[in-house]
Amino acid sequence: MQLNNDEIRRYSRHLILPEVGLAGQKKICSASVLCIGAGGLGSPIALYLAAAGIGKLGLVDFDIVDYSNLQRQILHTDADVGRPKTQSACETIKGINPNVEVVLHNTRITSQNAFELIRPYDIVVDGTDNFPTRYLTNDACVLLKKPNVYGSIFRFEGQASVFAPHLGGPCYRCLYPEPPPPGMVPSCAEGGVLGVLPGIIGCIQAAEILKLALGKGSSLIGRLLLLNALDMKFRELKLRRDPQCPLCGENPTIKELIDYEMFCGIAPEPATPVAHPDEVTVQDMKRALDDPKLGIKVIDVREPDEYEIAHVNGVPLFPLSTLLQRFTELDPNQQYYIHCKSGMRSMRALQFLREQGFKHLKNVRGGILAWSDEIDHTVPKY
Ligand SMILES: [Zn+2]
Repeated sequence: MQLNNDEIRRYSRHLILPEVGLAGQKKICSASVLCIGAGGLGSPIALYLAAAGIGKLGLVDFDIVDYSNLQRQILHTDADVGRPKTQSACETIKGINPNVEVVLHNTRITSQNAFELIRPYDIVVDGTDNFPTRYLTNDACVLLKKPNVYGSIFRFEGQASVFAPHLGGPCYRCLYPEPPPPGMVPSCAEGGVLGVLPGIIGCIQAAEILKLALGKGSSLIGRLLLLNALDMKFRELKLRRDPQCPLCGENPTIKELIDYEMFCGIAPEPATPVAHPDEVTVQDMKRALDDPKLGIKVIDVREPDEYEIAHVNGVPLFPLSTLLQRFTELDPNQQYYIHCKSGMRSMRALQFLREQGFKHLKNVRGGILAWSDEIDHTVPKY
């Protein structure tokens, strides 16, 4: 391949780096990268790879742009809200560098399509936000011998590494053999994230990708980089391949993709939602609040900051984090409906209170988000 005069000008700051040069820039321009997720991490990754002149950039995302994305997902603009993320991302990327071949995969990556999606690319970058997709990406990359440039973020903390057992070093399963119990690690939607954090971690991933494409420098293979942005401290852990790893170890037992939702303990969504015996709806919660004669009390187990953003009038706050100290203020014989933001933490509160001998508890399905959707649109969603 040859660079034309426009391209030479565009990439001149790369070309004058001895570690890149014309030969290196040609490698970048011939490389293909599949970015799984066009969100917080995918944004800086795609922007910088496009600017750097990556040859082919595949984007996998099935989501549409929401207002709550704009605080960090800088591929998307205010005008893109409601549009598919892949489409919005493609326009932004083309605006930066029309030479990049952008391939849109407006779909969810699954055990059925993962090989087909990943196979045509040289490098895979993990910009996912959930454990089933992370394990799926890891397993598919190891089985196809593709480097997997990993990053993850939560609140003020992030981590990055490169998993590529075929080039040495461990895989994600060597580091985390078991997924956390469902609901234990809150998502960004549940726990929050500093908007700039995925910017930092995503840029680290983009740098690792360019180094892999160039074959230069020391990559994060075998190293886990940890960032605490609140203290602005980086740490590094040496990672070793686990000889017992079921995927990349000496006697692997995982030779094909599995059901990752099941592996992560997430029950499949039934086609028609079946009523859970411990759950009530926001309509039931409204009836309980409207009619005190029913003798049902409603409590909110979110944190005070969340209560300040949005709450239902007349519902007292018992934050889950304080329940261990405060549950004695509640009456174990009273009937309670418990709500949180979306129904996950309130289920944990229910289980905890039940262990303390509370008998009449129900979890409000969908939490205050469902309340805002179905009962009172003036309650803001966050
Ligand atoms: Zn492994």
